[in-house]
Amino acid sequence: MTKLYESRKRILVTGGAGFLGSHLIDRLLRDGNEVVCADNLFTGSKRNIDHLHTNPRFEFLRHDVCFPLYVEVDEIYNLACPASPIHYQHDPVQTTKTSVHGAINMLGLAKRLRCKILQASTSEVYGDPFIHPQTEEYWGNVNPIGPRSCYDEGKRCAETLFFDYHRQHNLKIKVMRIFNTYGPRMHPNDGRVVSNFIMQALRGEHLTIYGKGDQTRSFCYVDDLIDGMVRLMDSSDEITGPINIGNPVEFTIKELAEEITARVRSKSSLVFLPLPLDDPKQRQPDISRAQAILNWSPKMQLREGLEHTIRYFETFLDRDDDR
Ligand code: NAD
Ligand code: UDP
Ligand code: UDP
Repeated sequence: MTKLYESRKRILVTGGAGFLGSHLIDRLLRDGNEVVCADNLFTGSKRNIDHLHTNPRFEFLRHDVCFPLYVEVDEIYNLACPASPIHYQHDPVQTTKTSVHGAINMLGLAKRLRCKILQASTSEVYGDPFIHPQTEEYWGNVNPIGPRSCYDEGKRCAETLFFDYHRQHNLKIKVMRIFNTYGPRMHPNDGRVVSNFIMQALRGEHLTIYGKGDQTRSFCYVDDLIDGMVRLMDSSDEITGPINIGNPVEFTIKELAEEITARVRSKSSLVFLPLPLDDPKQRQPDISRAQAILNWSPKMQLREGLEHTIRYFETFLDRDDDR
């Protein structure tokens, strides 16, 4: 009994009330850890962590990572940041602050505690890529002054800070570049393509395709992604990343729309709207590094992952408050 208690880790998850964070917390608690979730509920929701409040190993702190945080933990997963274009463009200055000041504060915390810290970075660091599929060596093609820059450049600066704390202060860092991920607990109104298309198909509305729908994305199911994240955190100290985690099976947005209307058995038709500025034309992760170093590959096929996600979004249909 004592031994079990002593081996238990206390883990901080920032952004833990969000889509990915809440799944990560479920996994960490299932593995027997204690979890402190710090979230300002900007895009996250209490609903995502409602089921955890009776768990004595779980603690919620309403906290904005732009401000210092003094807690005692053994590991930090830094996920706090709005992730969908609608959300991160709503208050772009706050988005950059969250990425940059948030990273500085969480790195300062990790430095004081001498603990490992993982950064949820993104495929957006590659921007609208010239290299396809994207390998970790590629430096990217990012507009520094466009509407997506608050997110892309904020995340790039956070990566810089992680590597500088590593070189300058010998911090144990893990930088994970997450590619498009979907699954239950995505926000139904976050404007991301999977949530938009499923909600539109369920409501019998037109599916809104931006541009011609020939741009591509590669979609990873949330359980696969979280498995990759935990494997990276648990990997040996010399593994810093950056490391791509995503599903390399690539689809055009039009193919995704057709798959979703078929899964939902919806009569919705497609409507074509203007393509947003700087929308990347293609995206596919090269995951050789994750396969070799973490022995990780995604397992869930899009069709099955969509079924789980559609079942989740059906629970929102009869509500007008959505959350
Ligand atoms: P999400 O919006 O569901 O979750 C983000 C969480 O961070 C929310 O709970 C939000 O309230 C919280 N947050 C935002 N600003 C904060 C602040 N200043 N202080 C404290 N909490 C704050 O998004 P997600 O999809 O779960 O993304 C989680 C992380 O993964 C983000 O860092 C995102 O950039 C990264 N990521 C996600 C994807 C994806 O496809 N889901 C892809 C690439 C990267
Ligand atoms: N910080 C924090 N929690 C801690 C330690 C530090 O939030 O337990 C924050 C603090 O606000 C500081 C930032 O992390 O500004 C960076 O810390 P660091 O030690 O790198 O820099 P300094 O304190 O010298 O500015
Ligand atoms: N998209 C679309 N219709 C929508 C929402 C998004 O065609 O209703 C497109 C969007 O232009 C982009 C792709 O789908 O090319 C993925 O968009 P998302 O916002 O999910 O993620 P990101 O662009 O950040 O990869």
